[in-house]
Amino acid sequence: MTEIKPTNCGVCNESGPLIQKEVYGKSTLWECGQCLGQFWTPMENPGAEWYEHDLRYSFRNLNPLVTDPEHNHREFLKDAPNKGGKLLDVGTGTGYFLAAADKLDYDSYGIDFDQEAIITARDIFKLKNAYVGDVDYAIEKFGEHYFDVLTLFEVMEHLDKPKEFLVKARQLLKSGGHIAISVPFRGSWNVFKKFDKPPRHLTRWNQKSMKNFLESNGFKVVRTKVISAPFSFIIGRFHFWFKGIFSFGIVEKVAAKSKDASGRLVDNSKINTLRKLALAKDYILFTIPAAFLYVYLWLVRKNGIDLYVLAKLGDID
Ligand SMILES: [Zn+2]
Repeated sequence: MTEIKPTNCGVCNESGPLIQKEVYGKSTLWECGQCLGQFWTPMENPGAEWYEHDLRYSFRNLNPLVTDPEHNHREFLKDAPNKGGKLLDVGTGTGYFLAAADKLDYDSYGIDFDQEAIITARDIFKLKNAYVGDVDYAIEKFGEHYFDVLTLFEVMEHLDKPKEFLVKARQLLKSGGHIAISVPFRGSWNVFKKFDKPPRHLTRWNQKSMKNFLESNGFKVVRTKVISAPFSFIIGRFHFWFKGIFSFGIVEKVAAKSKDASGRLVDNSKINTLRKLALAKDYILFTIPAAFLYVYLWLVRKNGIDLYVLAKLGDID
């Protein structure tokens, strides 16, 4: 290999030792012997414009019909630390988690660099506290130690400077406040890692590396959980694998026609019905193979897909 070994760990910024774990295209995955963090080099975030053109992310704006909290959100809603306090969701997307947090009496705020997603959050979910911006923007807008809770669902793995980010984000929290994080779990089945790669994702996490990361930056871990793939997720994977064969793209076509000139969705009902039918079709086609895969992954302990961590901030000096 002609890979140039980085001099410092991309997670803890210390000097390692660094061990090469994997190569993907022009990228290399390294593991740090000190913090056990894994990071890809070159460690560069492709920027907001790249994400706007990445179908995986832009589709959520076109199709803001997912309104139920996802499994990582549900773990947080179960914990509900500092209930009733001020919560900031970083990378809030179209904001359906924020809507759920509101119902739990949090005074919730959300930020995202994706302008289209924020428009949807304001229009569809009527979230007045959703803003386009990053952590620097939040510090400027709200000031330091303003929030009781920070939530970062599937954000950390995208960052090119996770430590700098955490140190900055920490300034937003009050003493005794909590941070909740979810990331893809690096112990999952390799086939599920199709998107868990650069330039989308720049770090990989497990319980130990996340604990080291948080505890070396002033937090104390309260709870960690590896979230296993629900049956619906496996069905969704089959849908994806067989997309070209069984999918007619009807939902996408109708969704594209149901938008006004500014790109906002004007008619949800038709798409809702079509989406339900498409889902029923997936279950009819894929239930039996998905059930076999579900049991297999459980047996070989590769069924974890996400890691959820709740941590508490110590005294601020
Ligand atoms: Zn490290």
